[in-house]
Amino acid sequence: MKLLDFLYPPRCPLCGELLALNEGLAHRACYKTLVWVREPRCKRCGKPLTPVAGEGQELCMDCLRSRHRHGNSFDQGRALWLYSGNIQQSVLDYKYKGMKSYTEFYAEEAVRACGRWIRRKNPQVLIPVPLHPRKKRIRGFNQAELLARAIGRRMDLPVNRNILLRKRWTEPQKAVSGQARRHNLAKSMEIRYLPEKLHRVMLIDDIYTTGSTMEACAGILRQNGVEEIYFLTLCIGNGRG
Ligand SMILES: [Zn+2]
Ligand SMILES: [Zn+2]
Repeated sequence: MKLLDFLYPPRCPLCGELLALNEGLAHRACYKTLVWVREPRCKRCGKPLTPVAGEGQELCMDCLRSRHRHGNSFDQGRALWLYSGNIQQSVLDYKYKGMKSYTEFYAEEAVRACGRWIRRKNPQVLIPVPLHPRKKRIRGFNQAELLARAIGRRMDLPVNRNILLRKRWTEPQKAVSGQARRHNLAKSMEIRYLPEKLHRVMLIDDIYTTGSTMEACAGILRQNGVEEIYFLTLCIGNGRG
């Protein structure tokens, strides 16, 4: 560990600068800038509900719409932080600059903030949202898998990366309409191997934006008889209502 620290001195996941000894996993000042997702949040996807949404509203507009479209693909999800500021850059560096050492900070916080919720949901297995194998080869790792393993280790929960397979290479889809994108994604996931008696699962990913990736994963699991499907992500985009 000491040698590793010497070769790769620990960096603050929120600003990317070196951490001094005994500074913990992140700078205190950086940590304070994190925007935590709090109540009121959508009962389904966990996105913060804006005050204009009104008292008593339980679901965000996205979930109202998508429930209509997909049925109930997943049951409930949680995210730790809003996808903005330091954490946005942090997650981008995690994926695209290979800052794998950030995993420990993320997992530590995920368990601290959502450990009790995870226990209540009692998943039999954690499932990382898969990358297309080609993308994984290029990147060298799947960030969702690192995250799931670190959370699983802390909570003594098994991780299975062989259940879902992302079979199609999905091009960056900014230009594609929302509907076409969802259609593409729904067809991009398949079941590779389904253990027997699998009833409750929790999907793990770094961010939840439109929710279409999560819908695609959950949809195929649901079609194959998984009864309770939850998800946990580090970040979530702001709700539209
Ligand atoms: Zn920092
Ligand atoms: Zn929602």
